[in-house]
Amino acid sequence: MIKTTGYAARSANEKLAPFEFERRDPGENDVVVDIMYCGICHSDIHEARSEWRSVTYPIVPGHEIVGRISHVGSAVKKFNVGDAVGVGCMVDSCGECSSCNAGAEYYCMEGGPVWTYGSVDRYNGKGQTYGGYSDKIVVNQDFVLKMPDGADLAASAPLLCAGTTTYTPLMYWKAGPGQRVGVLGLGGLGHIAVKIAKSLGAEVVVLTTSKNKAEDAKRLGADSVVITTDKAQLKEHAGSFDLILDTVSAKHEFDEYLALLKLNGKLVLVGLPSVPLQVSPFSIVTGHRILAGSGLGGIRETQEMLDYCVKHGIKSDIELIPIQKVNEAYDRVVKGDVKYRFVIDMSSLKK
Ligand code: NAP
Ligand code: ZN
Repeated sequence: MIKTTGYAARSANEKLAPFEFERRDPGENDVVVDIMYCGICHSDIHEARSEWRSVTYPIVPGHEIVGRISHVGSAVKKFNVGDAVGVGCMVDSCGECSSCNAGAEYYCMEGGPVWTYGSVDRYNGKGQTYGGYSDKIVVNQDFVLKMPDGADLAASAPLLCAGTTTYTPLMYWKAGPGQRVGVLGLGGLGHIAVKIAKSLGAEVVVLTTSKNKAEDAKRLGADSVVITTDKAQLKEHAGSFDLILDTVSAKHEFDEYLALLKLNGKLVLVGLPSVPLQVSPFSIVTGHRILAGSGLGGIRETQEMLDYCVKHGIKSDIELIPIQKVNEAYDRVVKGDVKYRFVIDMSSLKK
């Protein structure tokens, strides 16, 4: 077993604190990644605080992982020691069901994929997987992404979740020239969605509750900004969007945003508030609208996204922090006080 150091939440109400644990010895298809950076996704907070489900503690969050390979198993063909790599939200799946065969491991029919943290670890049959707020991780080579040459490793870490979660629906729903695309919520996911949608040639409009983000939205590439707390602005933009990507992390009014869609417009939910949604059927039936959802991309598409982002100069706007500031960072994310992703510098674990 490999001795590992990290930070864990020990209950829903406790702050994250140092935690020593063991990872499995690498098998022939595994690589060991020395973690350099890990982004803080709002999902980490939902999970650490048991907001979606009752998780098993201790939990080591973190699924926006970038590091370098320090060991390769004897059957590993895809990677070499020293390679810069990424690990996202999944570390395994059944590999045999229709979803896995379609390259959509996220939707694995065997009860979902093995999540990077908080899943049963099928390799040692006991305990659970632990995530990237730690110094190393052991992963099957098929769930490891190659960081493209020239990637800014710290600022690209958020692409492993926020990037793939926004790239996939923007591609699926064909955001591009002639399309008016709204990005609802300018947080970690939202700010990357703006950059990707703009690079695809769409007209991009940021829909935000935060007036103080309007300037940033334009700097990030948005053509215009709608302040959603101003009902007059919402009315002015009614029926004008082809596609809205909803990245909001908390309860919000869907009917107000569905009203912004054109005929045949789509609202695609990627945000995962911890409360059930309320939608009036009239908001969907009227205007022949589509209310859709989207999870991450599969491994193949995540690699495609990384290559696309590095080629187009897309990376996250980050605040790099030592791990000792992780609890403060959580509170700031919940307050919307982050521009636009915290990334933990994992070398701080040694301090
Ligand atoms: P984040 O950085 O906290 O951003 C969320 C944004 O939502 C905030 O910046 C804010 O934007 C807006 N918001 C927050 N509370 C709101 C409220 N009460 N009403 C309206 N808007 C509100 O979070 P994130 O890391 O981007 O994640 C966003 C959500 O996506 C989370 O629920 C996360 O769990 C989920 N997620 C899903 C997937 C997936 O597979 N589908 C993957 C990753 C994350 P403004 O200030 O601009 O209004
Ligand atoms: Zn995430």
